[in-house]
Amino acid sequence: MRDTLVLNASFEPLSTVTLNRAVVLVLQDKAVVEQAHPELRMRGADLDIPAPRVIRLCRYVRVPFRRQAPWSRRGVLVRDRHRCAYCGRRATTVDHVLPRSQGGQDTWLNTVAACAEDNHRKANRTPDEAGMALLREPFEPTPADAMLLALGAEDFEALPAWLARDAA
Ligand SMILES: [Zn+2]
Repeated sequence: MRDTLVLNASFEPLSTVTLNRAVVLVLQDKAVVEQAHPELRMRGADLDIPAPRVIRLCRYVRVPFRRQAPWSRRGVLVRDRHRCAYCGRRATTVDHVLPRSQGGQDTWLNTVAACAEDNHRKANRTPDEAGMALLREPFEPTPADAMLLALGAEDFEALPAWLARDAA
């Protein structure tokens, strides 16, 4: 996997992201290419750009490196790539692993993205009580996730279908 280095608007290195994410940031005018791969290009119907090796954000973002990124429902959905933690389908809701009715808190480690159906089915029960297994454990956002959250990301994984990667 080729990763792309992301610089803040102030040129300070922030993080690395996947090449896909880097291209989407550029296509969404959230970043500009500072340095490109000499031989790798991204080609589509109306596009032919060098694959970015280093990009720079157009707007300065404050990324909490030492401090934990603040919890939010949107953040949980972005962290989990909008995938349900119980079935892997598209998630639009946030589930408390330990339900709020049992003292569960709004924290990164107690919340996961969930589809509405599974969230409803699990209701006010723990995964054990509901007989529902977590496909993955919740985790603190990575520095890359924290940066994308600070940028207002909804979902940077999705590449336009017409955009192909082409190593010349
Ligand atoms: Zn589900």
